[in-house]
Order: sequence, then C-alpha cells, then structure tokens
Amino acid sequence: MTKQEFVKQERYLKLNDEGDFIIDYDGKLDIIDFHTHMSNVLPLKVVDPNTKGNKVAYKTLPPIEKMDLSVPYWTKIDVNEKRKGIWSVIKFSLDGYSIFKDMANGGTYENCFRSQQENSIKHNVVLPLSTKKSDRSMEALKLAKEFPERFTAFCSVHPQDPQMEEKIKRYKKLGFKGLKLKISDMELKDDFEPLIQLLKACYSVDFTVLLHTGSLTHIKQENTSNTMWKLIKSTRVELFGDLLKHLPHDFKFVFGHSGIAEYQLVAKYMKAFPGSYAELSCQSADSIRYLMEEVGYERLIFGSDWPALPQAITLSRVLIATEHDDEARNHMLYKNAKKLLGL
Ligand SMILES: [Zn+2]
Repeated sequence: MTKQEFVKQERYLKLNDEGDFIIDYDGKLDIIDFHTHMSNVLPLKVVDPNTKGNKVAYKTLPPIEKMDLSVPYWTKIDVNEKRKGIWSVIKFSLDGYSIFKDMANGGTYENCFRSQQENSIKHNVVLPLSTKKSDRSMEALKLAKEFPERFTAFCSVHPQDPQMEEKIKRYKKLGFKGLKLKISDMELKDDFEPLIQLLKACYSVDFTVLLHTGSLTHIKQENTSNTMWKLIKSTRVELFGDLLKHLPHDFKFVFGHSGIAEYQLVAKYMKAFPGSYAELSCQSADSIRYLMEEVGYERLIFGSDWPALPQAITLSRVLIATEHDDEARNHMLYKNAKKLLGL
C-alpha cells in the first residue's frame, strides 16, 4: 500500500506536497500541543533552530506496511515478536540514536512553523531532554523568549544533578512552566529516592511534571533476552505511578504518551491520584475513547511528540474520538492545557 492509499482510508488525515501527514479538517481549531521537542533541546550536539532546508524523516513512525493506527504506537502487533540476542539490544540503541539525530536535524523553526500552520496548532510546549551531564533547559527557554506566542518552555533537570534544588527554584523564576524528564529504572539503578526528591521540589514551586511513561506490553518475556526485557520494561507505568503515593494529591503529574500500550494502567492511577493527567501522543482513537470513559475528558491533553512523530496523527485520533462532542474536543485540544499552564 502507498502512503496516499493509506491516508485515503483514514479520516482527518491527508498528505502535504512533501508527502508528510497533515490534518484534513475544515473547522477552526486553536490547538496547544503539550509534547514537542526542537533541534536544540536534545541530549546531542545543539542544532541551531534557524537552520534552513533540513527535513524531518519521522523515524519513530513504522513503515507504511507495518502501520496500524488502531493500536497505540501505531505499529502492527505481532504477538510472537521476538527480540532475542545481543543484536536486538544493539538495534534498540541504534534506533534510539537515529531517532534523536533526526529530531535534532529536523526540529527547526522552519519545519516547526510549517507543521503548526498545516495542523492548526497555535502553541507548542517544548520539552527539553536533559541528562546528568547536560542540561538543555536554557535552550528551551530561548525558544519561548524568541517566540512567546508559539512556545512555552518546560525545564529538564536530572534527579542526580547536584544543583537540583537551586535549579528548580531558579527555573521557576525564569519563567519555565514545568519539568520534563525521560528516565528509566536502569538509569536510576532502581533507587527512586532522588526522583522523589525532584518531584517534591517541583511540587513546591507548582511545576507540572511530565515524564515519559510506558512500554510495549505485547512483547513476551520468553521472546526476549534478559537485557532486552529490562530495557523494554525500564520506563513502565507502575514505576512512576507508584511514586505519586509520596506526593500530595494535588501534585500535577502528566503521564507522557498515556503510558503507550499501558493506557489502562494509566487510567487506574488517574483514578487514585486526582492531580494526574494523561498526554495522548501515540494513542489510538479507541484508547483515547477508553480514557475518556474511565477518567473523563478534563484530564486528557493532546500532545504529539513532534518531531519524533507528526503532529497530525495523534490530532486525527483525538478528532475521531471526539466526533460528536465539541466540549470534550476543546478540553483535550487546548482548554486543559491552558489551565495547567496558567495561560
Ligand atoms: Zn518526547
């Protein structure tokens, strides 16, 4: 099947003249995208966002013959998928690196503004990704200072950063609206105390916190090696959901990607923790409907993970899930985000 044939079967999606997915919708929308990155906020060599002529390849997307938008992560599920041997682990790391490279190459102003325009997106929340060694927060702030109409900046501070507490206080004063982190139990060596301290510091300055959460649940342990299994499970929802017990009930926590394949578990945590939200990037229309039924639309937020993924696909899933419910649609596309960001 060609990409053109693929979008013909999908409501609210079409291709632009570059062959990228864009939204096919006539009405007016003023959307806030709660999960985006840019070329200068990743844990790689900083690429100047003013660079012209770079293209985004969207390497996180599966090839069209493997694409299935009816499941989270949009990749056809093979229940017998095998990830055995050292090669799987190497491929996993290489894929991760190549995705970051593509995001750093393509996350420029030129591509971002075009994508915003083609998808009726007014505002991107930019999430930097810091490691213990490099803090990319100030790069995100630069974008928000240069284009305050288009960007809001989150900071990213590693839990083992020796200046963690001072940084959180300073970043609050500088105008950041929250904190983003992608971290795993492997990186933390199963010691979650520094992360709990970081979350508490965020609570004390009223930062919203978005963590990358979720794993691919269809892969079976017997079809993996020990290392691969650890890697797959290293950002699973329960690791982060359980930490919410250590925080006040009104702590504003966002489950990034709604836990990918673990969205049902995310709904459970959301029922237990009323201050928590789910950000919808890479979900399907069905999983979004499931979340709406379980926790209501007032704690679900549209995010795309651009430029890892096109803004249009998650957006089209939200439009399908809210087809006869404008109130739910407007809440998920911007009202909930506005409230969280205090805009
Ligand atoms: Zn992301």
